[in-house]
Amino acid sequence: MEFLDTTTLRVVFAVVAVTLLGLFYFVTFQRTRSVYSAWWCAALALFLTGSAAYLLDGTAHQVWANPTGNALLVLGAASVWAGARTLRARGPRTWQLLAGPLVTLLASALDSPATNDWSGGPVFLGFMCLFLALASAELWAIKRSYSRVTKALALASGLLAVYYLGRWLVFLVEGPDGPTFTTYFDSAITTLITLVLLVVVSFSMAALSNEQVTRDLHLRATRDGLTGLLNRSGFDDLAVNELKRIRGNGTPGALVLADLDHFKTVNDTHGHAAGDVVLQAFADICVGTVRSTDLVGRHGGEEFVILLSGADANRAETIVNQLSARFALATFAEGFEPPTVSYGIASVDAESTDLAAVIATADAALYEAKSLGRNRAVQGSTGRRG
Ligand code: GH3
Ligand code: MG
Ligand code: MG
Repeated sequence: MEFLDTTTLRVVFAVVAVTLLGLFYFVTFQRTRSVYSAWWCAALALFLTGSAAYLLDGTAHQVWANPTGNALLVLGAASVWAGARTLRARGPRTWQLLAGPLVTLLASALDSPATNDWSGGPVFLGFMCLFLALASAELWAIKRSYSRVTKALALASGLLAVYYLGRWLVFLVEGPDGPTFTTYFDSAITTLITLVLLVVVSFSMAALSNEQVTRDLHLRATRDGLTGLLNRSGFDDLAVNELKRIRGNGTPGALVLADLDHFKTVNDTHGHAAGDVVLQAFADICVGTVRSTDLVGRHGGEEFVILLSGADANRAETIVNQLSARFALATFAEGFEPPTVSYGIASVDAESTDLAAVIATADAALYEAKSLGRNRAVQGSTGRRG
């Protein structure tokens, strides 16, 4: 590409990268503070400073600038990988991040960097290819439900990895002055390709961050902060659909309201914090006892609501007895006994069209369980209690 000289392209690259970095930092990172957008900011900054270092090629500074540029770009690619990893698992260890850049720095420094524009070239290209490929694999492995954006990112990263693989192989075969390398893989073309991909990736990352924020908000709006169970509106939304499904299938179901007995005493005797721990313990036991497809919510205060699908009222009674038996075995730091629990059970069938009515039935049964002396389950009947 004779008509575009490398220096001009690098200046353009620097300007675009600074703009992207600024936009991304202020628009996306400041707002979301997500770990992977922090990694992407780091990657942009490293690509920027690494490329800027190459501008010193041909000057007296080339001797340190060229190896530094190589190392910074490899560290940038490693940051892309690190960011991708945080979406799925924990980020890489420090040595996994630093080994590549340090080896590149060393290899370049030992390869007459004062005169050789391509000092440490094979090592540099190899590590670039490796980290971009790792990032691509990491992004590709993210569950589809997470976001389709990650597939686009995986593709962008994968294409760049393939391009660097090509550069690397051709470099090894014919060196930086060979005809194939200068035609397809020289610095000008690479800068151009990287530029386009930086824009694509920054845009996608911003979209991903927005999606993440929306997810977080949704989660916070539908979950109870103390127990992690569904909150009332979260439960209601899902339960309405589940009732429809039960009606459609003709399978039985049961709705349970559980209320801890004399819970106020726990708070009064051992403190509110101890009360919170008791609530969390009961919530965990509920989740651990029912099926993963059943809905468990915090109805409010020390009341819990469970929708069991596929279980009739008798089966529900067996399940709540199991809950109580498990909860009775719970131990607390303060050394007190867990409270007992009262339950109201309403069966759900093809007739159950209204969630509020089902809950009202369970509530009446719960009231009865309380007045019969607590620590028991009562099955409500719509017929009897209307
Ligand atoms: P009963 O057997 O009739 O249900 O008696 P109770 O004491 O359990 O019922 P009551 O409704 O009188 O008291 C419920 C208590 O639950 C009062 C309230 O302070 C406490 N509570 C509600 N939410 C929380 C919470 O998030 N944390 C703690 N620690 N206590 C809570
Ligand atoms: Mg209570
Ligand atoms: Mg209560």
